[in-house]
Amino acid sequence: MNRRFFLKFGTSALTLGSSELLLAMPEPYLDTNIKDHLELNYKSCKDFSHDALNKKPVIASYDERTLLNSISIKLKKTQRYVGFGHFNLLCFDEMLWIARNTPKIGEFSSAELNYIEQVFYTQAADYGFYGKKVTHKLSDKISKNETLKVPYTGHYLYKGDPSDLYERLKREVGPSIVLTSGVRSVVKQLDLFCYKASKLRGNYSLAAHSLAPPGYSFHGVSDFDVGKVGYGYKNFTSAFAKTQEYKNLQKLGYINIRYPKNNPFGVRFEPWHIKV
Ligand SMILES: [Zn+2]
Repeated sequence: MNRRFFLKFGTSALTLGSSELLLAMPEPYLDTNIKDHLELNYKSCKDFSHDALNKKPVIASYDERTLLNSISIKLKKTQRYVGFGHFNLLCFDEMLWIARNTPKIGEFSSAELNYIEQVFYTQAADYGFYGKKVTHKLSDKISKNETLKVPYTGHYLYKGDPSDLYERLKREVGPSIVLTSGVRSVVKQLDLFCYKASKLRGNYSLAAHSLAPPGYSFHGVSDFDVGKVGYGYKNFTSAFAKTQEYKNLQKLGYINIRYPKNNPFGVRFEPWHIKV
């Protein structure tokens, strides 16, 4: 726990359970690109027409939520330890090694590891997510050599088609378009998904509506997200579709949205997500 966090939340943290502790974390401790998670709640899901809400949602039990929260806290601490950029590419085995050898993170318990495996190997269709699995093993690695770091963003793109497409978008749309999320390792997607499920009180069906479960994200193989410079968390809301940047992207015919409105995958409309 960093000093600022402790000073601000130290006293109250003593009386909080792990779930509340996670939710009480100040935003700088969290990933700025998941600020939409803070927006998402049951009410804001009223546009959720997918059958996942009509069938029984998959919800973690009390014990599972405890594991989910402790896993999420360790992943956040690891992200803080290795740095935002590096965490995007961090592979699972490396993450375990770092946690084990860094006292302020702490080794993952066997119960936590079993639960991570359970989350990773669950068929996402059970949650109402119908996209295909693109990363099949928890231990799959991303080689840094296959990627390019995009300056000033903290993100990476795969070399070849993804980085070529991004360069074209920048040239055509102009400097007000920016990469907001690029390559994501299994660990990064696991972190995003566990955090989101934790925020949604263990409701995996709702979490999967707004974020691909780990292994199912095309960020693992090619896709990326763009936004308007200075637009903050709104870049990850439908408000992005109203910006001139989005209109230009559309007009120029460069974008091919992976998750259009009413897509068959059970995922909300994501105008910022570029399919490669
Ligand atoms: Zn995306």
